[in-house]
Order: sequence, then structure tokens, then C-alpha cells
Amino acid sequence: MISYSEQLSAHQARFQSEGQLFSAPARVNLIGEHTDYTGGFVMPLAIDFETVAVVSRRTDNKAVLYSANFKEQVEFDLATLAPNDKGHWSDYGMGVAWALQQKGIAVPGFNLSVDGNVPLGAGLSSSASIEVAVCMALLSLVDTKLTGPEIAILCRKAENDFAHSPCGIMDQFVITNAAADKALLLDCRSLDFYLLPLGTDTKIVIANSMVKHSIAEGEYGDRRGEVEAGQAALHEMNPQIKLLRDANMDDLRAAKSKMSEASFKRCRHIITENARVLEARSALTSGDMRRFGDIMFAAHASMRDDFQASCPEVDKLVDLAHALPGCIGARITGGGFGGCTVNVVEAAQAETFAEQLKQKYFEATGIKSDVFVCKAVDGALARAGKSA
Ligand code: ADP
Ligand code: MG
Repeated sequence: MISYSEQLSAHQARFQSEGQLFSAPARVNLIGEHTDYTGGFVMPLAIDFETVAVVSRRTDNKAVLYSANFKEQVEFDLATLAPNDKGHWSDYGMGVAWALQQKGIAVPGFNLSVDGNVPLGAGLSSSASIEVAVCMALLSLVDTKLTGPEIAILCRKAENDFAHSPCGIMDQFVITNAAADKALLLDCRSLDFYLLPLGTDTKIVIANSMVKHSIAEGEYGDRRGEVEAGQAALHEMNPQIKLLRDANMDDLRAAKSKMSEASFKRCRHIITENARVLEARSALTSGDMRRFGDIMFAAHASMRDDFQASCPEVDKLVDLAHALPGCIGARITGGGFGGCTVNVVEAAQAETFAEQLKQKYFEATGIKSDVFVCKAVDGALARAGKSA
């Protein structure tokens, strides 16, 4: 737990000025993997880890940032802010200040303290969490209001163009716009979104396989290439199909001879995954968690067999989860080739489930996994509304 009063007094002591505090959560994707960059559907939720940003104004034109995680303070001149290649933690926060400037919003000098309990680099999006917390903080200093989707777009720009990380819109979007006890269905083309009931008697358990196979980066690029080639073949067959999102399985079968076997399988994953996200929505709105869980298992099989982006350790985590009491659904989450699984578990069983999963995974692989029992929490906008 991060103590807000301690954060505020630490900021006061460091900068001799009273600050205002903003908080942003972390996120996990429940279903909808590799669907974002072809305009499809994703269904993430915000989870109860957070980054807090305390901000106060300065009279000069400097930005002074302190990260409690890195125990380091850095300073910038706001008049000469520009992307660089240093790969420093401050890129994520300063990227937001830069993106605001790019939008024509003059950012005044500020002191900013950040602290977070989101595990860094674990796939729970500490990067989007710090961006959104900083964005909320900086917006409080200027006379401009941005909508939730605008904040997400701005923070993504900070990450893509300033921190040089080519992520999609999902992370920043859900971290900004999520609501407690809800999953968020996002249409990645229109940015329309829907908040869906998750049920209060379920918990989200995230298990980290602790492996990241070194093929990941090359394979990720190959997958995108295969998807784009399949999408191009579909577009050539039918110009109405602008993005894979517009195609169905009949279209894909009709274009099969125009693409490689690999492209066919990757596209089949994405087309069926988009359908699964929509089916998952109807399962949630009708309160049918069993059906929701079955859709998660099917989504995992598709990532494993058609997208071929799982790995033996992650498959093991899903199989072990499936056999444990209280497990409703389990699947790989994130880009693939390692990383985490997301599990929907009956609330009463969640702690035991987490312990047993950790134990059984260790017995099977010799790897000590990080397993987190989480709940779906408010995004940064709802938090700011509540503290106002
Ligand atoms: P993930 O988003 O999966 O956690 P990334 O590599 O995308 O992993 O982002 C992690 C990076 O974000 C960190 O290495 C650091 O540069 C930055 N970051 C995240 N949280 C903080 C924080 N509280 N303080 C400073 N930098 C942070
Ligand atoms: Mg990240």
C-alpha cells in the first residue's frame, strides 16, 4: 500500500512546496490478444497496483522529477524539451510534458515526485501507469481539460515518440478510463468503449511464468509481418476489407490460396479472437462466468496453436490452473513467448488457488513464479473525480 499522506509530506520536504496527488493503476488484458493493431477488440481491466504522482508549480521554467523507485532526481528545461535516445526512466514522464507541448498546451515549471508499486517490466504496464499519473498531474497545472480518450492518445504518443516504445493504445486507454469491478471492452478502431460487469465474487489472479524466450522480439516482428500480409491479401480480394477486423472466416477461407499457411493461421487467430471478445462481452452482461471462462480457455488454445505465441512454461501454467478448484478461466496475456497468464477465479478460492498454482508450477518446472491476486479497480479519471 502506498500512503498518500506520506507521499505528500515527502514531496513537501523535498521541494518545500505543497503538492497535489494523482494516482493511476496498472492493467491486465483479459481477452483480445494481437487484435489491436488490426483495428479489433480488446478487453483489459485496471488492477490494484498504482503509480502516484505529486505535483507542485515552480516559478521558473524547469521540470524537476524525482522517482522514489529509482531514488534519483533529474531536471529539464521546458523550453528545450525534445526526445533523446538515453532510455531513462524520466522519458515516460517528460514524454507526457512534451506531448502536451506538441498539442499546443503550455506546461509551466513544475516539481514532480513519483512512486509506484507496479512491478517494473513485468507486463503489467508500469510505463502507461506512470504516463497517465503524470498526465493527470500536469493537466491540473494548466487550464485545459482533456477527455479520457484524449489523455490515452497523448500518453501513447509520449511512449511511442519520446520513450521510443511502439505500444498500442490499450494500456493507456484502460489505465485512464477503467472502472472498479468492471472490464473494459475497447474497439481499437473507433476507440468506443464499454464497461462490463465482472461480478464481485470473482478475483483476477496473474501468474508470471518468469520466462521470456529470447526469440520473442524476432518472432513478434514475424507475426506482425504475417498478419499484415494476410490482411493485404484479404484487402486485394475485397477492397471493403480495410483492416482484418472487417473480415470473417468465410472471407479468410476465400483468400486462403493468396497467402502463406502461416498468414492464414495468424489471421484465423485474430478473426476468431475478435469474435471471442464479443462473445465474452455477452457472457459478462448475462452474468455467465462459466461461459466466459470457457472462452478464455479457447482464446489460449488459439494463441498457442494458431498464433503460435505461447511456450511450454505458459501452457503449463494454464493447464495447472485449469485443474485447480475455483478456476473459471485462464489464458496467456500479453505479447507472448513467455510472460504472464491471467486467471479468473472464484473469490473465495483465490488465495488458495494462487498458492497452489505457485507450488505446482515450481514442482513442474523448478521456477518460482510471482502470483498476484488482484481486483478490478477505477482508472485514473475516476480516481481524480473521487478525490476532488
Ligand atoms: P512495463 O510497462 O511492462 O512495466 P516497460 O519496460 O514498458 O515495462 O516500462 C518500465 C519502465 O517504465 C521502467 O523501466 C521505468 O523506466 C518506467 N517506470 C515505470 N514506473 C516508474 C516509476 N514509478 N518511476 C520511474 N520510472 C518508472
Ligand atoms: Mg510498458
